[in-house]
Amino acid sequence: MKSDEPHDATRREALQRLLVLAPVLACGFGTAADVTASLASDDISLPARKLHFSSLVIDTHADTTQRFLGGQFAADGGFRSGLKFDFAARDARGSIDIPRMREGGLGAIFFSIWIPSKIKGPPAVARALEQIAAVHEQVRRYPADLAFATTAGEIRAAHAQHKIAALIGIEGGHMINSDLGVLRHFAALGARYMTLTHTGNVEWADSSGAAPVHHGLTPFGREVIHEMNRLGMMVDISHVSDKTFYDVLAIGEAPLLASHSSCRAICDASRNMSDDMIKALAAKGGVIQINYHVAFLSQEFRDAEKKDPLINKAIEAEVLKLCGDNEACELIEGDRLTRESVERGKLPRVDWSKIVEHIDHAVQLVGAEHVGLGSDFDGANMPYGMEDATQLPKITEALLRKGYSEDDVKKILGENTLRVMAEVERTGRALTAAPQ
Ligand SMILES: [Zn+2]
Repeated sequence: MKSDEPHDATRREALQRLLVLAPVLACGFGTAADVTASLASDDISLPARKLHFSSLVIDTHADTTQRFLGGQFAADGGFRSGLKFDFAARDARGSIDIPRMREGGLGAIFFSIWIPSKIKGPPAVARALEQIAAVHEQVRRYPADLAFATTAGEIRAAHAQHKIAALIGIEGGHMINSDLGVLRHFAALGARYMTLTHTGNVEWADSSGAAPVHHGLTPFGREVIHEMNRLGMMVDISHVSDKTFYDVLAIGEAPLLASHSSCRAICDASRNMSDDMIKALAAKGGVIQINYHVAFLSQEFRDAEKKDPLINKAIEAEVLKLCGDNEACELIEGDRLTRESVERGKLPRVDWSKIVEHIDHAVQLVGAEHVGLGSDFDGANMPYGMEDATQLPKITEALLRKGYSEDDVKKILGENTLRVMAEVERTGRALTAAPQ
């Protein structure tokens, strides 16, 4: 089977493939326009504003960690590896920093620990550890704004102290190097979910982004799931193949998380979840966190990308020229150049209201108890009107306008994630207490 992976990948994923093939070019200095359109906040009603800012808003997937590793855009728009991204300063690019999270009422964020699937073995472990340390470093640097959290209770405690809870999710089982000891190490360092695969298969599970090799989970894969359940780590099924998902669901002892996945019925990406999968996930208490990436939200966008692959190839070549192999630069410039293609009429414009369409589709299927937010901020191409975290109150406003109860909106904004976390923690305690 030939995989249609390029269409199931965010810009970051496509670039990783390109980097394997192309020589790394020297960093160029383009004139980057500021694509961070600011939203006039006055179109949020008072009830929506009150509800949003009294809720615990949780995002289970952002790729901002890459920005912590080094390099930043200079005033002239060029990316300089010697400059540092300051998480406490309002940035003109990307989607997440402390001021913009505050402005958008984002109360907890899972920072993704991610390296390309092709990196395996001890280097994968080392790079994951470096990224975990980078997240801890941010919390140490800004103790008045951030609090590291590993449990639902710690997220609530951080919120009560008006701090943003910082959490860690590992995006890809390749980073444990097929070693449960490494998995335990990550958990001890505070990782609270692991996405079983990224776009490539791992030694013990198939991804939606590659041709099947294992046909789901291997026996060792089942051991990984059991150990995650025992450790109280959420099992994240975003990115995995359908067969892997059903295998995990059959043996998992705790509810599952889809940390950043949208609905396949609206946008046919193999990386999105089918209605059957969403129903099966919900039946076991899990939650689907809607991803904002335009090519996972909009069929029209996917079709346009598929029809003219040269558009993306040109964007990727330009990103490579501007960024070399700096992943933070690639993510931000990829988003900006995609916007430019939209402005030139080469790709369709996708509006933020698509996010609400996906939320509503999942809610109609399985109820408001099983849906949440997993933006993919700083790692994907954001729709118009959801350029950054400041725009999040619009989701609350839109759900209220659709007639959602305040209680249901709160669940979608974060309470569902907290419920799943608490259930996973309880399962972990029960399994730890039980004789092995
Ligand atoms: Zn992802």
